[in-house]
Amino acid sequence: MAFIISCLAFLIMLIVAKKALAKEDTSLYTREQIATARHNVKTYDWAKTELDQVLSKADSWTERSDEELWNLITGQEIPRGIHVNPNLGCPSCGRNVYKFGNYPWIVSIDRPWKLECPACQEIWPKNDFDPFHRSGLGDGGVFRRHLADDSLLFNTDHPGIEDELRGYAVDDGQGWVDNDGERWWFIAFYSHYCTWTVLPEAATALATAYLYTGDQRYAYKAAVI
Ligand SMILES: [Zn+2]
Repeated sequence: MAFIISCLAFLIMLIVAKKALAKEDTSLYTREQIATARHNVKTYDWAKTELDQVLSKADSWTERSDEELWNLITGQEIPRGIHVNPNLGCPSCGRNVYKFGNYPWIVSIDRPWKLECPACQEIWPKNDFDPFHRSGLGDGGVFRRHLADDSLLFNTDHPGIEDELRGYAVDDGQGWVDNDGERWWFIAFYSHYCTWTVLPEAATALATAYLYTGDQRYAYKAAVI
């Protein structure tokens, strides 16, 4: 429901903005440049190759629902971090993880909110953040920590109330603090990767696909992001 209300609010905003700030022409590229690009991708092999590369990236995004795209963008109450724990590395195998680079964690939006250590293959965090995140979505589908259901914060491998590992590697978005007081930013790393790596690539691919083809499906999905 929040998503639908947000979309309606966005549409109303667009209508109002259209009246107040109606564009009279293109901004980044002239009509002539756009026509030339669209002519080239139909005419020259080098341009067709460029188009194919762009569409191979953009098409996977048009297959995702609007709500899925909308929910990929994390709110400001979920920090973004470039390291899980820069000094200690991985909770399981330590600095072995850095044998795979400075930013070694394996992440994918097809495995939401999870990081895999390339050295020991452990998956972090140990809680299922997705239902917790959904429980905290407020106005506009934006996560609000105070709305989220804390009863959903537990290690899914050790869910028992009396289990001493129930709280192990559980991250509510602010990182997991271990018994030594060390903080591990699993969700922040995922959020950084998702927000600042995947989504800009998606928006760029979709916008470029629209530029080259004029197909409004690409422009629409870019606008959702
Ligand atoms: Zn590891």
